[in-house]
Amino acid sequence: MAAVVAAGALAGAGFTQAMATVGPANGIVPVAATRDLAAAMTGQKQAPQVLDVQTIHSVDTGAETRKLLQAEQIQAQFHVREALKSAEGAYVKRQEAAKAEAERVAAESARVAAETARAAAAEEAKRPRCVRPAQGSFTSGFGARWGTSHNGIDIANAIGTPIVSVMDGTVVEAGPASGFGLWVRVQHEDGTITVYGHMNTIDVPQGAKVKAGQQIATIGNRGQSTGPHLHFEVWVEGGQKVNPVGWLAARGVSI
Ligand SMILES: [Zn+2]
Repeated sequence: MAAVVAAGALAGAGFTQAMATVGPANGIVPVAATRDLAAAMTGQKQAPQVLDVQTIHSVDTGAETRKLLQAEQIQAQFHVREALKSAEGAYVKRQEAAKAEAERVAAESARVAAETARAAAAEEAKRPRCVRPAQGSFTSGFGARWGTSHNGIDIANAIGTPIVSVMDGTVVEAGPASGFGLWVRVQHEDGTITVYGHMNTIDVPQGAKVKAGQQIATIGNRGQSTGPHLHFEVWVEGGQKVNPVGWLAARGVSI
């Protein structure tokens, strides 16, 4: 019994030594150190079996390592989550800042557009509806003259003096005309047509949209004219020629 215990103790130092000491010669077999009991009993020489201390230890180390790895993974996952949350927060902040900036720009654009529209409306409101067709001397009125009918008024001034459309309208004719030399006829919103004659140059094409006060021609001496002047007529809807002085006066313009 003592030999078995001794042989068991020897097992720690290695089975080869145990086999040498406690072999089948004395009939005592160290059971605890024997992997193949049958082989030991028959006295056959066994290949040395090294107890894999290193493996056992490394198994323990592996478990510890796994625990550490798990802990590190949990820690790493925590950091990743924190980093993601932080990045997400930064992204949301950037998005919010970009949105706020876009809204600020849009509001500023709207403010500028509104201001521009107000300024344009104010400018439009100030713009005269009706103006005098040319600067110069009133030399002849509407009506009977020299045994015939003078269908307009004459305003004399130097050749090249600007002639303007008296109101907004559309140029319905611009070119040569019998007696007028050259003429321009402008039709206005209410259907009235204003006629400008004897001009030296025509500065707008037929079909052009013109504003009140916009230059359309210059004073000349063409056609049946005895000196540089503008001959100006007003044809109300239906073609009737009316006294331009009264027509202009009704629109706030005195000749
Ligand atoms: Zn005339």
